[in-house]
Amino acid sequence: MNWKRVRRCFLAIFLPKRCIFCDTVIPPWHQSCEPCARQLSFIRPPLCPYCGHYKKHCDCGNRRSAFDKVAAPFYYEAAARSGVLRLKRHDDPDAIACFADHMHTVVCREYGDESIDGLVYVPMTRRAERQREYNQGRLLAEALGERLSLPVYAALAKIYETPPQKALDFHARSGNVLGVFDVIDPAVRGKTLLLVDDVMTTGATLSECAKMLKIYGAKRVLAVTIAVHKRKKETDEVK
Ligand SMILES: [Zn+2]
Ligand SMILES: [Zn+2]
Repeated sequence: MNWKRVRRCFLAIFLPKRCIFCDTVIPPWHQSCEPCARQLSFIRPPLCPYCGHYKKHCDCGNRRSAFDKVAAPFYYEAAARSGVLRLKRHDDPDAIACFADHMHTVVCREYGDESIDGLVYVPMTRRAERQREYNQGRLLAEALGERLSLPVYAALAKIYETPPQKALDFHARSGNVLGVFDVIDPAVRGKTLLLVDDVMTTGATLSECAKMLKIYGAKRVLAVTIAVHKRKKETDEVK
């Protein structure tokens, strides 16, 4: 008899396991339900380093941001989108572990040649973090730091609250985050940093954080998120 499985089933009676993407109750030995697993839109390599899209889906024109490169395992749609939204509502260690595993794979594949010194994450204001009781960016950075055996620096602070980025267009988004972040740990000087966030929409937030890190002397800033917003409606077929 498989005692581990028996124990998991026993626990599941009291605390049913839920799909990390859609919250449906699932068997305790699964991470997600089958429909969600089928719907995951992985971003296949080669990636555009500036927008994180599959190169044939990229229309960014190599527009540079303050970060040097960005990469993510998923496009922000279907199951990945509901998983990110679910993570904003509750802190689920299974979801953090699963997303960190996928991000780890992407970091090893895309940044294997880089010599990363440590991780930083996009901060929330103290008030917002107190209200939510966790920052999913920090939890992802800690889980990813463990997998990479690298330290996590709480190097950035968000000085004041901003209107939600999702309500704004591209130009307003850059202005909305201008001057919002500050560097509170001088340890970033001379370092190559991995900047972690949950999702990249226009990249304005990641770029503003990277800009501040570089003002304080960071050598390189490589960004990684769970998902990136797809700019264009495309099929996944290679033409
Ligand atoms: Zn599901
Ligand atoms: Zn691109």
